[in-house]
Amino acid sequence: MRCRRCRSPEIVIELRRHNAAFCRDCFLHHCREQVRRTIEDFEMFHAGERIIVAVSGGKDSLGLWDLLLDLDYDADGLYLGLGIGDYSSASATTTRAFAQRRGAKLVEIDLPGDHGFDIPTAAAVTRRVPCSACGLSKRHLFNAAAQQGGYAVLATGHNLDDEAAVLFGNVLRWEREYLGRQLPVLAATPGFVRKVKPLVRLGEREMAAYCILTGIDYIVEECPNAVGNKHLGYKEALNAIEEQSPGAKNAFYFGFLARASPLFRDDAAIRDELESCSSCGSPTTGDVCAFCKLVTRVANPAPAGEVGG
Ligand code: SF4
Ligand SMILES: [Zn+2]
Ligand SMILES: [Zn+2]
Repeated sequence: MRCRRCRSPEIVIELRRHNAAFCRDCFLHHCREQVRRTIEDFEMFHAGERIIVAVSGGKDSLGLWDLLLDLDYDADGLYLGLGIGDYSSASATTTRAFAQRRGAKLVEIDLPGDHGFDIPTAAAVTRRVPCSACGLSKRHLFNAAAQQGGYAVLATGHNLDDEAAVLFGNVLRWEREYLGRQLPVLAATPGFVRKVKPLVRLGEREMAAYCILTGIDYIVEECPNAVGNKHLGYKEALNAIEEQSPGAKNAFYFGFLARASPLFRDDAAIRDELESCSSCGSPTTGDVCAFCKLVTRVANPAPAGEVGG
């Protein structure tokens, strides 16, 4: 087997869905090209716009940041400390080391230090799974940080495997509203910055290979709260399908975007007039936004025995 691009016999990776194999340099070129094309095809952003990349210390977010810097985009990193024990300590150290190595600017927010709670405490007080308070905090704080920093766009490291798994879950339950919003670009709306996912053409395996080949030190451990969640189950199911039929994930996700996604657009349209949160100014349908409610609730937990809603 030879490299598809330069015919070298020194193959580092085989990509069955592309029916191709690559040498090191051509594989890195392939990753940059996939990201460059995705940014262009979906009109995610253009040179000169300021981008902030949500980074967790994992292969996808650090790989994305690295690729954007290599493509000469003006990209800063945004790290949110969640206070999830050793996982958060390791992810902070790894992210800072990467930023330093690349000489890139890292914006940091610390949930315990800046907002007075960590994710395990929020989960205990709300009596919900940790991912619920975590997802809410990330959505709110990423958007707020991007707005306050004057960034044009917030980029996240969701890859093809992530997007196909989320789509799979949304289709299983026919979540019309989520399906309508599952796009690689969400345009800015009043109070919300533009959001983009430039890695949707690259899979998990490609991102791990990209980091290893470029010497990016990333944290391999998943967040302990991810263990056993539905999302991982959907990924496993799709991996089994991909094994039998290479390219199935790609066809599923990009086929959805081309043929089905427009059918759900109306379900995702914002129906309510948004007000400004009386506490933080973020857009909300009520008087106080969900994040500020969470902050208040964690600061004033209900007495034992009282189950909150
Ligand atoms: S798996 Fe961990 S990092 Fe991811 S949403 Fe859940 S708590 Fe947050
Ligand atoms: Zn080659
Ligand atoms: Zn608020």
